[in-house]
Amino acid sequence: LFLAFEGGDGAGKSTQVGLLAEAYESAGREVVLTRQPGGTELGARLRDLVLHGQAMSARAEALIFAADKAQHVAEVVRPAMARGAVVITDRYTDSSVAYQGAGRDLSHDEVHGIQMWAVGGLVPDLTVVLDITAEEGRRRRGVVHDRLEREPDGFHEAVRAHFLAMAAGDPGRYVVVDGSRPAEQIHESVRAGLEAKGVA
Ligand code: C5P
Repeated sequence: LFLAFEGGDGAGKSTQVGLLAEAYESAGREVVLTRQPGGTELGARLRDLVLHGQAMSARAEALIFAADKAQHVAEVVRPAMARGAVVITDRYTDSSVAYQGAGRDLSHDEVHGIQMWAVGGLVPDLTVVLDITAEEGRRRRGVVHDRLEREPDGFHEAVRAHFLAMAAGDPGRYVVVDGSRPAEQIHESVRAGLEAKGVA
């Protein structure tokens, strides 16, 4: 089983990924938690480069995120899936399509194509979008840590709209959850959403 969490910065993805992992673990399943960018040793270096390095062109940024994902899928996701583990990733290809596509104004199809090539076509069984407004995201982030978080609200609104549009275009494979509520409530909605889609 392969599940992805997507959503803006400050949406609470890491908290929700952790809560869902605990739920599967207490049901006796092996869970592999990972994140992008940065789920591998190479990924950690790429993450540092792209988030804390110098400014770069939108296309270079898209390719670095794609390289991170290629390594992540080969090294972490596929082997874990082959063992029958539940793999939960904090961000996946949709983040790239939203941030580098909508946010940076590259074409959806081009960025999507690059991402799909990088991951060898591996699509999650289900993607959870934690939805919050750009304003709420900014408030929650507080101190800004990286280059992307410093982008203005308009950038984050474009990213948010793109996540929602992708979810609306493929409702059978997405669950959209209001991320502005307390963590426990969000977790309940995530579980209910997974159940409704027949994902156990
Ligand atoms: O979610 P996390 O904090 O690990 O993401 C790190 C940063 O990378 C965030 O600022 C996010 O906006 C950015 N990002 C991006 N494009 C991606 C994935 C993440 O701009 N494909």
